[in-house]
Amino acid sequence: MKKCEKALVLAESYSVSPETYFDDEMRGEIAETSLSAATAIDIAMWDLRAKMDGLSLAVVMGGSLKDLQTDFTIGIMDAEEAGLEATRLTNEGFRSIKVKIGKSLSEDLDRVRAVRNSSGPSAKIYVDANGGYDPESAARFWEKASEYGLEFFEQPVPADMLKEMASLRERGVRVCADESFTDEASLNKMIQLEAVDLVNIKLMKCGGLSPAMRLARTAKHAGVETMVGCMGDVGISVAAAAHLACCIEPRQVDLDSHLNIEQICNGPDVVRGSVVLPDMPGIGVGLKEGWQKWKTEC
Ligand SMILES: [Mg+2]
Repeated sequence: MKKCEKALVLAESYSVSPETYFDDEMRGEIAETSLSAATAIDIAMWDLRAKMDGLSLAVVMGGSLKDLQTDFTIGIMDAEEAGLEATRLTNEGFRSIKVKIGKSLSEDLDRVRAVRNSSGPSAKIYVDANGGYDPESAARFWEKASEYGLEFFEQPVPADMLKEMASLRERGVRVCADESFTDEASLNKMIQLEAVDLVNIKLMKCGGLSPAMRLARTAKHAGVETMVGCMGDVGISVAAAAHLACCIEPRQVDLDSHLNIEQICNGPDVVRGSVVLPDMPGIGVGLKEGWQKWKTEC
């Protein structure tokens, strides 16, 4: 039996419902079996609970629906192509752009320059190296890119280089942790080392909305800012993450993955760079007709 199948059998044996699910022990046991199944169950339970209350999820979680501007990601591509993509995004109303880097310092600088030139001086631009730089190259990149007004540098060096991330901060780099940040223990370690300015919270990485809310509280208490991101998620988990973002006031919202894949559900729409959450009970999106074609065996 595969992991996610085991997790679903376990959830069934507990007769999981919104009344019983918000129990830490049960949630922990399901997450240990399969983190992605635990995330899906967690989102479903929050959605159902909000629907039973007749309220939008953001309200049930203690927030309110907000205008949620998201960035759009420009991948590793040549500078000319990146510039054209930035022009398209700017024309579509995106005011924030994430640029993937980490392959070659000079090509990365060319790409960032092209994006800045095409998107104008007021666009918020930040970079994500996915741990692709060594500490010295990361510091050099940040220094050379200073004229392009970057917001911060997501995961400049490999995930386990927490001390090096702290050193980069001492050299003026604004560091965001993504791959380094997986759970409460990793967050506490980074706080202790003063290794980060902000952390990227992703539902699929931390096991759902319940742990995400807890991590956001810990970060805020320590003066660490947050970002709400995604990992190739479909619209369902993007919508759930958007409700989370309505509650925790993140510095950055990076919820664009569902725009790059065939949609399994009817939303959330992104209009002029803002994630639109309809004011209706639950997460506000439903499965599209014919969704069964995505059903796979665990
Ligand atoms: Mg990242």
